[in-house]
Amino acid sequence: MSIQANLKEVLSELPAGVRLVAVSKFHPNEALEEAYAAGQRIFGESHVQEMTQKYETLPKDIEWHFIGHLQTNKVKYMAPYVAMIHAIDSYKLLVEVNKQASKVHRVIPCLLQIHIAQEETKFGFSFDECREMLDTGGWKDLKNVRLSGVMGMATNVDDDEQIKREFCSLNTFFKEIKQNYFSDSEYFKEISMGMSHDYPLAVEAGSTLVRVGSKIFGERNY
Ligand SMILES: *Cc1c(COP(=O)(O)O)cnc(C)c1O
Repeated sequence: MSIQANLKEVLSELPAGVRLVAVSKFHPNEALEEAYAAGQRIFGESHVQEMTQKYETLPKDIEWHFIGHLQTNKVKYMAPYVAMIHAIDSYKLLVEVNKQASKVHRVIPCLLQIHIAQEETKFGFSFDECREMLDTGGWKDLKNVRLSGVMGMATNVDDDEQIKREFCSLNTFFKEIKQNYFSDSEYFKEISMGMSHDYPLAVEAGSTLVRVGSKIFGERNY
């Protein structure tokens, strides 16, 4: 199947209000151009240099979402153009994004990455670490970042019930912190969850942004 056909199929399964981040990491510009020609405008990347090269050479109305683990020393390269950073996993990183965004006079939408999987290796705040970070209140002074929701990855297993439980736990946590810290923010509304193998479950559990790569672009050659 072509990229355009894959894209149409994924889009046809998304209810209104759920947006698609087409994860194009490791795929060449031609692949993104094919999706772009079919109307896709949100692309997700997980390497700073690769995303910046694509940003510089592809149409300027693309929204670039950074979905990977972000090191503080790389923030400056994307601050001028990134549309959303999905994986804020420390307060230190949020402070750095604020600093670099301020230098280029931007406000960058950011999601808090929450660790919902059973695997040890995934990045992100635990529920408690996230509550503690929000309790300290320092984030309220960071005027150049806009906390816009949460992001999470389920355990990579075949057990649909487990995956669904993990996605539902993220939705419940989202509602809790929305009520406790963001009740007056119109911007805190995104739940970024769901990848190629589990996005239908994520949508059922209330995802607003699915991050789908291989189902659209085919397998990646790492
Ligand atoms: C690569 C990646 C995806 C997309 O994965 P697929 O299985 O190819 O859909 C989604 N989210 C994150 C954080 C990723 O790194």
